Amino acid sequence: MRNFIYENPTKIIFGKDREKEVGKHTAEHGTKVLLHYGGGSIEKYGTYDAVVKSLEEAGIEYVELGGVKPNPRLELVKKGIDIVEKENIDFILAVGGGSVIDSAKTIAVGHYYDGDVWDFFESNAKIKQALAVGVVLTIPAAGSESSTSAVITKMEGEHKLSINSKHIRPQFAIMNPELTYTLPDYQTAAGAVDIMSHILERYFTKTKNVELTDRLCEAALKTMITNTPLVLEDNENYAARAEIMWTGSIAHNNLLDTGRIGDWASHGIEHELSALYDVAHGAGLAVILPAWMEYVYEHDLERFAQYAVRVWGVDPDFKDLKWTAEQGIKKTREFFKSIGMPLTLKELGVPGDRLEEMAAKVVAGKERGSIVKIDKEDVLNIYKSVLK
Ligand code: NAP
Ligand code: FE
Repeated sequence: MRNFIYENPTKIIFGKDREKEVGKHTAEHGTKVLLHYGGGSIEKYGTYDAVVKSLEEAGIEYVELGGVKPNPRLELVKKGIDIVEKENIDFILAVGGGSVIDSAKTIAVGHYYDGDVWDFFESNAKIKQALAVGVVLTIPAAGSESSTSAVITKMEGEHKLSINSKHIRPQFAIMNPELTYTLPDYQTAAGAVDIMSHILERYFTKTKNVELTDRLCEAALKTMITNTPLVLEDNENYAARAEIMWTGSIAHNNLLDTGRIGDWASHGIEHELSALYDVAHGAGLAVILPAWMEYVYEHDLERFAQYAVRVWGVDPDFKDLKWTAEQGIKKTREFFKSIGMPLTLKELGVPGDRLEEMAAKVVAGKERGSIVKIDKEDVLNIYKSVLK
């Protein structure tokens, strides 16, 4: 086990009706709020009314900025930074999913920076300060509600890049599983794949002697495997929605990093799909993650076999280690397919004519992967292996 610091100060306020308390929690941090949200789901399903009522009851002033798109855009972030400045806003409340939260986090960083906030995405410049952010979560997926990262798309040049800083970790996250009843099945499933990917990016590590973290990862994965089909069968299965929502945060709040270094190549490879073709991040991962597994598993047969045995219940004595490892990858694919996710670029709607360019962008300036270091040729091979 490696040395580590584990710190996650986001206050989690979990359960039925908890969004009605948002005013009270917001009042601990600010008096004038930027109320940030997406393309209309919160208005359609009543979350907007509940949040606004609670803010008003707590005497909190608010200015609205809706319209965040999935794969959130830099252009709207800049608009948010201007509003925060002009309106003297001291807190940002994100009501939505990863896209809204990441947009809010980036506005929070831009507020204290004189230059173009995109500078932080393109360089390793350290973020020194950010406005406080709070969250009312409406989709379990990204884990951004208690993570230190934000992912933003710049349309010009088709870039999708991320920042990472303890200063952008939300102050609180309100999580009511009932708010997720209205999710379309595709979003529920894409969210489930993103959650499982966050666990697997950490599970596939070269670090030895990480048993507790391995077991925590396996428990989280099994929770997703059991509960995702249940919510697809019955959208209003509270118990299963609650399990998924909580797993989504655990998957990405650094607990499952403790004592180890994760891989993260698959996320890098997927981000180019979202950047160029605006696909749902989780759906892109359903294609890429098993393809990456297939490409690298022979470098660590034992770990991939452990995954197959402990997570998928494959019999380790049935055949050799290689066969066992392969069954885990096969079962992962079968599961993603069973919940309605694509397994090829074709199914995802991604053509094959820009793969070279995408592979070059994935590796640009950065090494990818930890189990195996991946170069441009490898990324291209991974894309090609799932073209159709
Ligand atoms: P999302 O992009 O925030 O939302 C996806 C869609 O779901 C939107 O169309 C949204 O509609 C809809 N939706 C949300 N809640 C709903 C509800 N309760 N009922 C009905 N529809 C609902 O989804 P996400 O997967 O959470 O976020 C994806 C983004 O997060 C990607 O850009 C990804 O790269 C990023 N990400 C970030 C991190 C991190 O730590 N920062 C980690 C992984 C991924 P409306 O717009 O109408 O609300
Ligand atoms: Fe992700």
